[in-house]
Amino acid sequence: MPGKRSRKHTKQKYFCPYCQTRLWRMGSPKHYLYYQEISEVQKNLNVSRKKASFIIAQNNTYLDQSSWIEDFVCEQHGKMWLKISRKADRKMEVSLASEDDWKNSTGTINPNLPNPSVSEFSYSMSRKPRLKSA
Ligand SMILES: [Zn+2]
Repeated sequence: MPGKRSRKHTKQKYFCPYCQTRLWRMGSPKHYLYYQEISEVQKNLNVSRKKASFIIAQNNTYLDQSSWIEDFVCEQHGKMWLKISRKADRKMEVSLASEDDWKNSTGTINPNLPNPSVSEFSYSMSRKPRLKSA
């Protein structure tokens, strides 16, 4: 292999987008991103439209194994979900996960979205008139 570097493991560090403090990894599963639109493939993989449409035609969905959402904790800002992309030059690009990222991710739904609690749900259900007569 040409240009073989030292085998020392360079551990990737992640920093808070607000205060630049080192973040703690929560060991959550990586939620990889996938794309179903030609435009998404084109933008995220940085390929030509022709190539992107080819990829979509081949796979229907493209799973991007170099971009994912992961759970981190900042000492000051608490828990946050970051989108991490490994670029072609092996640099890591880190940003806060957006709504669109969540829509395109595998696994869970966006935990930041407010969703009705179970008790609220059962409450509204119990208020519905019952058709069944005694
Ligand atoms: Zn912070």
